[in-house]
Amino acid sequence: MELTGHAEQPEIWIRTVFLRNSLSCSDDQLRQLGRYVSLLLKWNREINLISRRDEENVWGSHVLHSLSLLFKYAVPDGARILDLGTGGGLPGIPLKILLPTVSMMMVDSTKKKVDAVKSMIMELQLSQAEATWGRAEALGRETEHTGSFDYVLARGVAPLHELVHLSVPFLKLRSEGLDEEPPPARKKKLIPRKSLVAYKGGPVEEEIGKIEESKLVRAVHVSDLAFQGSERMMLAEKKLIVVEFRQT
Ligand code: SAH
Repeated sequence: MELTGHAEQPEIWIRTVFLRNSLSCSDDQLRQLGRYVSLLLKWNREINLISRRDEENVWGSHVLHSLSLLFKYAVPDGARILDLGTGGGLPGIPLKILLPTVSMMMVDSTKKKVDAVKSMIMELQLSQAEATWGRAEALGRETEHTGSFDYVLARGVAPLHELVHLSVPFLKLRSEGLDEEPPPARKKKLIPRKSLVAYKGGPVEEEIGKIEESKLVRAVHVSDLAFQGSERMMLAEKKLIVVEFRQT
């Protein structure tokens, strides 16, 4: 199948990109992604969740980009994930749709964005998904959140050195109960335990240089996002940075 664009049938296009990158999804999940896109565009008329310029390309720039993590890594069943600075639910909602067993908490410091995400969670009837209003600096110190997540995700939120400090308080000291080793059939690497996943555009070397020496950081893994079928989506200049923290 020739991938010539996605304006007319985005669900078919995105499924083809998934298949080319060893990711499968059900019809129901595709429908849910479609509903999410409609809700995001509806809310975007009232509050600024994504740039107007991106509305036309929401499937490529936002949905596919959010899900690109799953082209590179497997996420263990039952993982507890925090999406820090979720805006309109990105990457949290598309990932939650594709990962039914994880729990996803989406945090943002702008109240009206959190209200929009809460409403989208309800309309999509997502379970184990919630949106919380607050600044990460403060929420990370609240006992109910401190040390209770396996992963922190952040898409377009802050420089890496700030994200490192914002995310550490949320992460579990140990990710007990999650798969240690990928089952033999799994082609992708399991995402390292206790890590921050930052979605970044543009040059990242300088930001990485600033965190590599940190005592908190065990390793930094950088993936580019030039995967099959995405040639037209200009994700190639974007990077996925997984910052693996030391186990304490
Ligand atoms: N992740 C979304 C939004 C990116 S814009 C997306 O990819 O589209 C960055 C978002 O982070 C904004 O909505 C802003 O309100 C939020 N934010 C920035 N600093 C924050 C902090 N310290 N705590 C919580 N949210 C924060």
